[in-house]
Amino acid sequence: MTYTVTLIPGDGIGPEVTEAARRVLEATGVPFQWDLRQAGVVALESEGELLPAATLDSIRTNRIGLKGPMTTPIGKGFRSVNVALRHELGLYANLRPGRTIQGVQSVFDHVDLVVVRENIEDSYIGVEFDTGTEDARHLIGEINARSAKKIPMDASIGLKQITDEGSRRIVKFAFEYARQNGRKLVTAVHKANIMKFTDGLFLRVAQEVAEEYPDIQFNDRIIDNMCMQLMQKPSQYDVLVMPNLYGDIVSDLVSGMIGGLGVAPGGNIGPDSAVFEPIHGSAPSHAGKNEANPTAMILSGALLLRHIGEQAAAERVEAAVARVIGDGQQVTYDLRQDRDASKAAGTTGMADAVIAAL
Ligand code: NAD
Repeated sequence: MTYTVTLIPGDGIGPEVTEAARRVLEATGVPFQWDLRQAGVVALESEGELLPAATLDSIRTNRIGLKGPMTTPIGKGFRSVNVALRHELGLYANLRPGRTIQGVQSVFDHVDLVVVRENIEDSYIGVEFDTGTEDARHLIGEINARSAKKIPMDASIGLKQITDEGSRRIVKFAFEYARQNGRKLVTAVHKANIMKFTDGLFLRVAQEVAEEYPDIQFNDRIIDNMCMQLMQKPSQYDVLVMPNLYGDIVSDLVSGMIGGLGVAPGGNIGPDSAVFEPIHGSAPSHAGKNEANPTAMILSGALLLRHIGEQAAAERVEAAVARVIGDGQQVTYDLRQDRDASKAAGTTGMADAVIAAL
């Protein structure tokens, strides 16, 4: 069976690392057909839209995508196309495994954690009102009429949404993942001591869902304590499930623990489709130089293989990546002990080495 996959190269280092991953996936012998589509600034220039309907339709039809990172302007300009894509396709689960690869320099050894991040709700719903606008003042007036705590009239306002349905499906996803992957413990991460209604709901639902999975242990941690515990005793944790913003931050933290964003893969999974992409962004300073580390993108490809049921191919890719990194010769500069770019492999050279090691 040939798998048709929507391929979105993205921008910055995206096209280089997606090409590396595409070549590795092809080299596994699993038959792929690639449906090349654009999104982000590249699509804006070529098609006049940041997220063309044709790109979304392609993912809806193929049900599977491989995507490079896309740039989002900070504090101004358009909202994240990455976030929009997850919303449009209902990709509610963001799966971010963080496992130590021997040979990658990192402060921690033997890290093996899985961050399951809710991908659609929380403060990522994109409902914000800018300081001084009529809408912001109107909303603040309404809130102040109902709340004992008063908000200054010139505040910017953003909403955080947590629902029973959204919490239930992400916690179930975490437990199902744990069950299917031989994991023993699910930890719900929250700030329910302060955000009693939003995070309180998330925690209450997590506790209810946990009762349906007596074979998997369950506990919960407040987000700040979780960060400290991850620094002190990461081996006591296994699968971590949490609302969107905490998941974004904790997954970068876990990436740092395993040696950085260059080696951290991810997948966005919904009921109908899934899009795999690394955690890292478009790293503009490395773009077009054939020096970006393709590992995170290649390992995102391995997650894609697992998702479509090609376990053996996924294991071969992961083993090949581990061999190349362990060998330390054909790796990008960021994976070298001396970080000497002149002796390092480029993005394509490292992909070639992974293909040779399959
Ligand atoms: P970034 O991940 O692009 O870069 C952070 C640091 O990691 C930089 O020092 C970068 O050089 C390094 N890095 C990242 N990936 C690397 C790789 N493969 N090889 C070598 N070094 C790598 O994060 P940022 O600088 O905060 O964001 C840059 C842009 O990417 C922003 O516009 C941001 O919005 C966007 N972004 C996109 C996504 C996505 O598409 N899913 C995710 C995160 C950030």
